[in-house]
Amino acid sequence: MGIVFPVKVAACYNSPINVNIQPGPLGRSKESNPDIMNMETSNGLFEEANKTLVGGVNSPVRAFNGVGGNPFFVRSGKGPVITDADGNELIDYVLSWGPLILGHADAGIETAVREALSRGASFGIPTEAEIRLAEKLVEIVPCLEKVRLVNSGTEATMSAIRLARGYTGRDLVVKIEGCYHGHVDSLLVKAGSGLTTLGVPTSPGIPEGIAATTLTVPFNDPAAMEAVFKAHGENIACVIVEPVAGNMGVIPPEPGYLASLQKICKGQGALLIFDEVMSGFRAALGGAQERYGITPDLCTLGKVIGGGLPVGAYGGSAEIMDHLSPVGPVYQAGTLSGNPLATAAGLAALDALSQPGVFANIEAKLTELGTGLGVIAREAGIPVYQTQVGTMACLFFHDGPVRNYAEATASDTERYAKFFWGMLDRGVYFAPSQFEACFMSRAHEETHINKTLDAAREVFATL
Ligand SMILES: *Cc1c(COP(=O)(O)O)cnc(C)c1O
Repeated sequence: MGIVFPVKVAACYNSPINVNIQPGPLGRSKESNPDIMNMETSNGLFEEANKTLVGGVNSPVRAFNGVGGNPFFVRSGKGPVITDADGNELIDYVLSWGPLILGHADAGIETAVREALSRGASFGIPTEAEIRLAEKLVEIVPCLEKVRLVNSGTEATMSAIRLARGYTGRDLVVKIEGCYHGHVDSLLVKAGSGLTTLGVPTSPGIPEGIAATTLTVPFNDPAAMEAVFKAHGENIACVIVEPVAGNMGVIPPEPGYLASLQKICKGQGALLIFDEVMSGFRAALGGAQERYGITPDLCTLGKVIGGGLPVGAYGGSAEIMDHLSPVGPVYQAGTLSGNPLATAAGLAALDALSQPGVFANIEAKLTELGTGLGVIAREAGIPVYQTQVGTMACLFFHDGPVRNYAEATASDTERYAKFFWGMLDRGVYFAPSQFEACFMSRAHEETHINKTLDAAREVFATL
């Protein structure tokens, strides 16, 4: 049944982690186990998709390689539930990898987008909604005085790095091992042979010369950051970091870590960039910078701020941002940037999310789910390590704390895969990889959380 993957699995783009994966759907067959989810239509679509789409998908993580199986195809979503091509209903904790903080097909977003569309999808001429979305971002996110809207998180990080280089007149970038910033050439890079040596590409197609402009250090390790600055300080344009790591599972910064990065950058004239494409409007309403009280020089946003439509943004102080074209010399542009549909969806999402109590309520529901899962795991005697920051969380199948990439990748990915399929068979969709976040939305209700915990009780008994 279905497609058997080529044995060599390409690097998983949405997560920088290469898991050792078995091809094929884990020996799952309806004949041998009638309780598994019916994926007949999905498997057929996947076979068809593979003829014209590379690996059947338009973004690698969607191929479910991280859990060794075939993806289901989605037909529709409403609130916290998606319905797949075979009619299965699944409680969704992936939410399009984070953006859908109001749930699927939210009525407010739908109305806003319909109204915008009826006035025209794109002009390439300024519209008022762009001002209103920018104002909203500036109001909520501490570091922002001015923003530039773009079309994806990748575009935001790529552009922020160019701005940092243009502003400082320096070339080197420091990134953190296990942080993901989109598929930007200079950020698909891992550490070279030593901590203070320049990076090497993690994907073919990235010139060594570009990779060599990036240095990589472990998360939650201020001493390593100090060491690269000691070796290369006067050439470092910026440090880019997910202030709450969300692409190696969810890992919070240890107390004082973000402050130490700020201090090191300030001391050496480098810019600190918080990549808040995931943590923005999730770690707290104002992102990790609000939660931890550290204001970076620049930040990047995406996901939630588009309400499900393609959007990214980056911004910071007016002084730095005014180095961008058309005011300054650093060039960056976009035909569809700030387009009416995306800005309408984003505004509707942020308006709803910033109403009193809404964010806190979503966060509380995630705490309830996490607490319940923790109890179940303990009762079953399965070691797990749980993290939660705001409305994003992770259940690591790991005995002991997870503070960085090395500890994250020591998780039991086989057990996670079993957990994933067991939950799917019971109508609950968690991320198809140990190294992705679990997200909560406004639309999830008590009944969904209870149903999830009931399913988890059954599944943990089989792990
Ligand atoms: C998702 C993500 C990106 C990339 O955003 P895209 O819209 O997928 O290009 C960048 N940084 C972080 C932290 C992300 O989670």
